[in-house]
Amino acid sequence: MEAAGAEGRTTADGPEDPRRRIPRTDVLLADPRLTAAAQLHGRPRVKAAVTAAQQRARRGELRPDQVADAAVAALPGGPPAGRAVLNATGVVLHTNLGRAALGASAVEALVTAAGHTDVELDLTTGRRARRGRDTLDALAAAVPDAGAVHVVNNGAAALVLAATALAAGREIVVSRGELVEIGDGFRLPELLESTGARLREVGTTNRTSLADYAAALGPATGFVLKVHPANFVVTGYTAAVPVAELATLDVPVVVDIGSGLLVPDPLLPDEPDATTTLRAGAALVTASGDKLLGGPQAGLLLGRADLVDRLRRHPLARALRVDKLTLAALAATLRDPATPTRAALHLSGTALRDRTERLREALGAAGRKAEVVPSVAVVGGGGAPGVELDSWALALPEEYAAPLRLGDPPVLGRVVRGRLLLDLRCVPPEHDDRLRSALLNLPTGD
Ligand SMILES: *Cc1c(COP(=O)(O)O)cnc(C)c1O
Repeated sequence: MEAAGAEGRTTADGPEDPRRRIPRTDVLLADPRLTAAAQLHGRPRVKAAVTAAQQRARRGELRPDQVADAAVAALPGGPPAGRAVLNATGVVLHTNLGRAALGASAVEALVTAAGHTDVELDLTTGRRARRGRDTLDALAAAVPDAGAVHVVNNGAAALVLAATALAAGREIVVSRGELVEIGDGFRLPELLESTGARLREVGTTNRTSLADYAAALGPATGFVLKVHPANFVVTGYTAAVPVAELATLDVPVVVDIGSGLLVPDPLLPDEPDATTTLRAGAALVTASGDKLLGGPQAGLLLGRADLVDRLRRHPLARALRVDKLTLAALAATLRDPATPTRAALHLSGTALRDRTERLREALGAAGRKAEVVPSVAVVGGGGAPGVELDSWALALPEEYAAPLRLGDPPVLGRVVRGRLLLDLRCVPPEHDDRLRSALLNLPTGD
């Protein structure tokens, strides 16, 4: 509807109307930037951005000569879902960088799984088969102490499934010291209560005894939950009850170990692992696939066969089921544990120092100042909170942080006391060349 009166003069038919100069769709789509974007994002998406920009111009929000720029700006700059970055932060499992990087065999498995696969078919009989059986077999083989295993979307989903199937409408007995926030607003108590289970909190923030648990047990108890505080350490006057003691209680003990270590790692002596926890008497262990295990995002459930079976058969299990890509990457990770996560954790200090030194020399030859300094790397991502890994870093002026982050490839370091530190521990050695060129390509700034 055109407004009457004075405003009525700006009709689209007027010869002076700038709206007549809005570029046509075919002209806009021929813009090289939009042609390139169409290859990356598909033509429909680019066309939608063009139409939206034309409409804004018709409403008078843009001048006709701004339409192409607006369409370009509305499209993402890089590939459709996530750009590859170099993690020089020294944080092995960086949540903002997607936690674990997959190993070569997992990547290969992903590519195969992208097509049609026998994920739910037995090729010998031509009949339907248990979904993801290879993956479940690999997990069971990696943890022989588990009576049965199941895989869901992530660690949180594993807990939700356990709470729903074993304690909805009943009570989960848990220490006050373990009702933690894992990160990014993910609070364990809220998650558990969302299933319809009631939390029966026992003990205090710093101390909980076996008697505290025992006194809380009753006919309404679904299970006792023990959570590994994965992102902080409680020190001082503290007491927690070991799994072996909890297991003497007459109810199932579910242990959320968080990080997904399947067997002990001498490098991380305080980090719980699935095998030891099951041997201590846990009925069920839950863990993430993309932390210390170094696999894809997944939630692992391992333990007593009758309990795992109840979880697997619960209607909610279907909603938490992982796709064939996850199953493939997880199976490959379990069969070939030489993951980037493991490599980063176990890298020798000498090798790291040599690589860092070579990088410094290359920069020096190009007339750029940099220094090799001791650094401290951490596990991160909700694992091994107290563990510090002796490391080395290239120290550069802090001003380099933004251009490196915006470069190609984007390089992420960490700023410490006015300097940018690049710790190569989590940069795969085969990417050192890319890191060197990213550094040499920086504007000199003088
Ligand atoms: C990381 C973590 C979770 C959540 O696992 P996601 O895979 O991120 O869903 C739960 N509990 C503990 C102890 C954790 O460390």
